[in-house]
Amino acid sequence: MKPCRQCGKKAVIDLRSRNLRLCAECFPPKFVELTERSIKQYKMLAPGERVLVAVSGGKDSLSLWYVLNHLGYDTTGLYIDLGIAQGSYSSQSRRHCERMAAQLGRELRVVRVEEDFQNGVPEAARLMGRAACSFCGMVKRYYMNRVALEEGFDAVATGHNLDDEATTLLMNVLHGNWGYIARQAPVLPAREGFVRRVKPFCRHTEKETALFALLMGIEYIEDECPFSVDAPSLFYKDILNRIDHQYPGTKLQFYSEFVKHRRFFEGAVAEGEVLSPCLLCGQPTTGEICAFCRAKEQVAQRRSRLLERVGSKGEE
Ligand code: SF4
Ligand code: ZN
Repeated sequence: MKPCRQCGKKAVIDLRSRNLRLCAECFPPKFVELTERSIKQYKMLAPGERVLVAVSGGKDSLSLWYVLNHLGYDTTGLYIDLGIAQGSYSSQSRRHCERMAAQLGRELRVVRVEEDFQNGVPEAARLMGRAACSFCGMVKRYYMNRVALEEGFDAVATGHNLDDEATTLLMNVLHGNWGYIARQAPVLPAREGFVRRVKPFCRHTEKETALFALLMGIEYIEDECPFSVDAPSLFYKDILNRIDHQYPGTKLQFYSEFVKHRRFFEGAVAEGEVLSPCLLCGQPTTGEICAFCRAKEQVAQRRSRLLERVGSKGEE
């Protein structure tokens, strides 16, 4: 690789989409600077705001917590324990979050899915007949909003990177999910019962966040969630990477141009959508009972029916 554009030392990364080659010393400050630029450009956060950073133990979210803290925001981590026992995934990822909290001297809130769904996300998704990731996404969004709202945070920040965002966008375009597209944005403003949600890494590739974590000595869980192997998004991510390799900058351009013109999709959001507090938990919903509370009831019912059936077979 040719030398660093800033100091002439050996470069470790070539940001071809930005026409920038950087060495191990020049890359981290540039990464932080570019994050700050995204925060300002998309008006994600105001100086000193209280931010709840959703951390999973992975490179993106832990790097995000580190960077937001470095930029002077009043950060608190939120770890959602999904109850994934396979490969000790949940316990290992939690340890990484606790380590980061100690390093930053910041608080880590922990929410355990098992308090609402007895055996965590895997069993609950199975009982609901849903793919683990789709159920998990609903549950995570619910907890993030509930904790942020109850504890008066200004915003929730998530570690979604450019690869995640461009992949989601591509999938939604290909499948014609216009309503989802209209809701995809670097910042989702606060509205009736929803706290503002921001994605400060939305213009950083996965490769960049991984390199940042490595260079800053951030320890993260390297194993992927066991459910991610079946996720269709991996296939689309790979296709986008191949396109970007052939035509550098395509991924960033695809996402940035969409963000610039996303107002054209806003009409796809259900018109006249009225939100009111869920009768059971108080979180905003379009019906009387929110999706989370409905799932909680259904999972409990299906579980006890299953146990009854198993019990009666045992007696036969
Ligand atoms: Fe949840 Fe799926 Fe991500 Fe695993 S891969 S944490 S199940 S969304
Ligand atoms: Zn509810």
